[in-house]
Amino acid sequence: NNGKDLVESEKPEENFSDVGGLEDVKKKIRMNFILPLKQPELFAAYGKEAGGSLLLYGPPGCGKTFLARAVAGEIDANFMHIELQAILGMYVGQSENNLHDIFEKARENKPCVIFIDELDAMGGSRNQMRQHHDRILVNQLLMELDGLRTFNDQVFVIGATNTPWYLDSALRRPGRFNHMIFVPPPEEAERAAILQLKLAGKPMSSLDLSKISKETKHFSGADLEQIVKDAVECALERTLETGEIQPIVQDDLKKASKQRKATTLDW
Ligand code: ATP
Repeated sequence: NNGKDLVESEKPEENFSDVGGLEDVKKKIRMNFILPLKQPELFAAYGKEAGGSLLLYGPPGCGKTFLARAVAGEIDANFMHIELQAILGMYVGQSENNLHDIFEKARENKPCVIFIDELDAMGGSRNQMRQHHDRILVNQLLMELDGLRTFNDQVFVIGATNTPWYLDSALRRPGRFNHMIFVPPPEEAERAAILQLKLAGKPMSSLDLSKISKETKHFSGADLEQIVKDAVECALERTLETGEIQPIVQDDLKKASKQRKATTLDW
């Protein structure tokens, strides 16, 4: 049983231009993650090296995974998405070996972005035996992160969590995840930008997206994507009825947004 088979390595097509809004977040990632790789001499003059790790936190559906994929796209790197639950369910010993194998695979596929979702799952358990197991795995992850720093080998780790307050405190200490970045719910103008991106290239009449974005306070990027999908379905129904391509109209979006709920409010 080889941990390398647990996770696929792929090359994402997305880049930062596919991410709506989040300009501050993108700027921070560019400065600390992307430019040091592209212009190492300039950063080395200030003692800054490429590589390292960052932690994205914030409400669900606001683009953490999407951003991580886009980072890989920006630097033309491979991308590996680790779902911690799959690793955590294993026997003591096996989980750590698997984690190590995954980092090994990333080095073989460098440059590579390792994305670790639900980082809070490590250490969130109340069961004593599990807690012990989690601790061993957290330590293994810390060792891998230290290793990255030592070898500077073009492997980048992006962790994500919806519940940073449950994160194992060892992972929050300085020097572990070098940067912690809040990925907030989209504001009004950002919601319009996301709608625009999701509608791009589709048949549509002239749409007033600012109106929809005003009416979708607290909606996540994922919620907005869903609204566009619902609106597409309405237009498709008309298309199938008439046998001719029918554009998405304002009313489709409006109806779709009324039927969906904002999911970032409870966070
Ligand atoms: P979770 O915490 O539940 O894992 P997340 O923050 O990782 O959520 P994503 O999976 O990145 O959220 O977002 C879900 C989908 O919503 C993405 O596939 C993407 O299409 C869309 N989306 C979210 N935010 C944005 C954004 N800012 N720009 C474009 N698309 C977005």
